[in-house]
Formats: sequence, C-alpha cells, structure tokens
Amino acid sequence: MKRKAVYAGSFDPITNGHLDIVRRSLCSFDEVIVAVAYNSAKDTALFSVAERVEMIREALTDVAERVEVDSFEGLLVDYCDRKAACAVIRGLRAVTDFEYEFQMAMMNRHLNPRVETFFMTASEAYLYTASRLVKEVSRLGGDVGSLVPPGVNERLNRKFAES
Ligand code: ADP
Repeated sequence: MKRKAVYAGSFDPITNGHLDIVRRSLCSFDEVIVAVAYNSAKDTALFSVAERVEMIREALTDVAERVEVDSFEGLLVDYCDRKAACAVIRGLRAVTDFEYEFQMAMMNRHLNPRVETFFMTASEAYLYTASRLVKEVSRLGGDVGSLVPPGVNERLNRKFAES
C-alpha cells in the first residue's frame, strides 16, 4: 500500500519554506498531497484558491509524479479519509508554532484516530519565512525573491503594482 500524506495550509502564497517541507517529506511518503484549505465564508486571502493551486503546481513540476496539488473546504481529517491518506504533515518553525500545532494535532486525533500527524522542523534557512511576512514586505516594496519561488515573486510584484 502506498504511504500517502496530506500537507495542508492556506499557502497564501506558497514559500520556499513550505516547498522545502514538501520535498523533504517525499523521503518518508510515497505520495504527498499539497492541499489549499479554504473557508469560502471568511476567506481573506490575497490570492484566490485557483491562483494558489497554480503557483504550487508550477513550483513542484519536477516532482509532479508523486505530488498532487488540490484544494478543499471543511475538516482536514475528512479530506484525508476521502483521499485515503493516513498522515498529515505539519511544519514547525519555532516554539511559537508548537502550541497551536499541538492543539490541532490533538483535535484531529480526537476527530479521526486513523490519521496521524507528523511534524517536520523547518530548515534553518527558512526558520523566519512566513507567508504573512512575505506579503507584508512585498507590499512595502521589499525584495522577497530568495524566500519564494519565481512564479510567486512575479505574482506578488504584479499584485502590488496594481494597487
Ligand atoms: P496555516 O494556514 O495553518 O497558517 P500555512 O499555510 O502558513 O499554515 O502553512 C502550512 C504549514 O506549513 C504549517 O504547518 C506551518 O507551520 C508550516 N510552515 C509555514 N512556513 C514554514 C516554513 N518557513 N518552514 C517550515 N514550515 C512552515
């Protein structure tokens, strides 16, 4: 049986930190589904779900055979069941991530004990990379080219040039 894991998040937008987690997780899983989680009732994202999916696909073409890019609304554990995935991957940057991630993992286990949460530590180079900060810096004209894939950098520049 294939070991399939889901890496979910808002990915608004995907950063090199996220991509590093996806690539490293392929050492432990046969297939990884990168899934944009959204809530249509209160989505305050900068990029649309379709744009986010497209940017992730573009950045992972070289591993497309083992990586599916998708989006979903609703409970993550239900999505895992639908996709026959037994694991959820989460990335940990600092202690500050831990409290929230630990709570989420406990809640997900409560909801569906068949799905296991795997934590991966961020690479040193991306310890301080966060989508929120990348957007803020880019909005103010700062260079985030080394923190995001080229397609994301272009779209950020375009987005903020429009406004
Ligand atoms: P959320 O939607 O929960 O805020 P994100 O979409 O920002 O999460 O990220 C999804 C997952 O990726 C989370 O587990 C988050 O901790 C992790 N992550 C975010 N940035 C990085 C990074 N630079 N390095 C490693 N993991 C990261």
